[in-house]
This record gives sequence, structure tokens and C-alpha cells, in this order.
Amino acid sequence: MVISGPSGVGKSTITREVVGRMGAFLSVSATTRPKSDKEENGKEYWFLSREEFEKQLREEAFLEYAEVFGNYYGTPRGQVDKALAEGKTVLLEIDVQGGRQIRRMYPEALMIFILPPSQGDLAGRMRTRDRGEDETTTRRRLEEASRETAEAMKYYNNMVINDDLEQAIREVIDIIQSNDGE
Ligand code: 5GP
Repeated sequence: MVISGPSGVGKSTITREVVGRMGAFLSVSATTRPKSDKEENGKEYWFLSREEFEKQLREEAFLEYAEVFGNYYGTPRGQVDKALAEGKTVLLEIDVQGGRQIRRMYPEALMIFILPPSQGDLAGRMRTRDRGEDETTTRRRLEEASRETAEAMKYYNNMVINDDLEQAIREVIDIIQSNDGE
């Protein structure tokens, strides 16, 4: 299953909770974006150089990949294949471009898009997130969020509004459970 949503919407928190409560397998993506101080290599992401990412790309090591805000992001193929073979629910937290590729490969994939209660709320969350981003980057992310949401309407059959965190987590779990075994 795929979880997407604009940056700052709280999808990482929701995903982490869902994975913890359901015992699903969470794919750790590779990225070329710089690691923040709070992040750990192999935990949030595998942080790779552009050269290394491109090498792995040529070796077809990624199930899907996309360029987001000038950096590469990709899902390592091996870990997903292994978890699927073991019959686990596999969760990918990726952007809409990646979601579209997964949908094409796995038409049965469950697609969930997380929405903010409002555009103003998203702007507020981005500004308080403190990744040391400047205002231009924040504005760029907000514009991207509108584009991404419009695009998501075409490929995502489930929309969850993150107004109340606990309620959003429960909604995602309900969606997964009601689709189990179909
Ligand atoms: P961030 O840098 O804020 O962690 O992530 C930026 C965007 O990249 C988010 O929308 C996130 O979901 C997306 N992303 C993270 N990993 C992957 C991946 O493996 N593939 C794709 N296509 N997008 C990803």
C-alpha cells in the first residue's frame, strides 16, 4: 500500500503509528537529499550520493523512483520483494509520481492520500517544522502541495484528512483492514 501527501501534512507520524500498531513492513527509501541532524542513516532514509544513487538506478535496484525538489528518492526493490514474499503488508511512504508507478505495477495496491484540514494549516505546519528551510523553499513546497493534491485525485482511491491525528491513524487502519484479503 502507498501513503502519500504534501510535505508537512503529518504523514510520517501517521505511517509510523500505523506500522507499529499493525506490524506492517515499512520500506526505507534511498535519497540524495542531505540528512538533517535529527535523522539517522538507514532509519528515515538511506542517504546516498548522487553518483551512488545513479549507479543503483542503472542496476535497476529501485522499484520506483522520482526526483522531488531536485533530489532523487527511490524505493529499494530487494526489501519490498522479500517482505511481499513473506506475505507481509508492505507500506510505501512516497510521493505521487512514485505512487503512479506503483499503481501501474500493482493495480491492486491500496492508495491513500493524506490531506491537511486547510491550506493555511499546512503552511503553519511547514513553518513550525524547523528543518532550517528558508521561506522560498517553504513557498515552493506549498505550491508543490497543490499540484500534488490535484494529481492524486486521479490515482488515489482513499483520502484521509489529518485534522485530529488519532482519528486519521484509525481511518488509515480501517481502510487497510477493510481491504484485507480482497
Ligand atoms: P522529505 O524530504 O520531506 O522526507 O520527502 C519529500 C517527498 O519525497 C515526500 O513527498 C516523500 O513522500 C517523498 N518520498 C520519500 N521517499 C520516496 C521514494 O522512495 N520514492 C518516491 N517517489 N518519493 C519518496
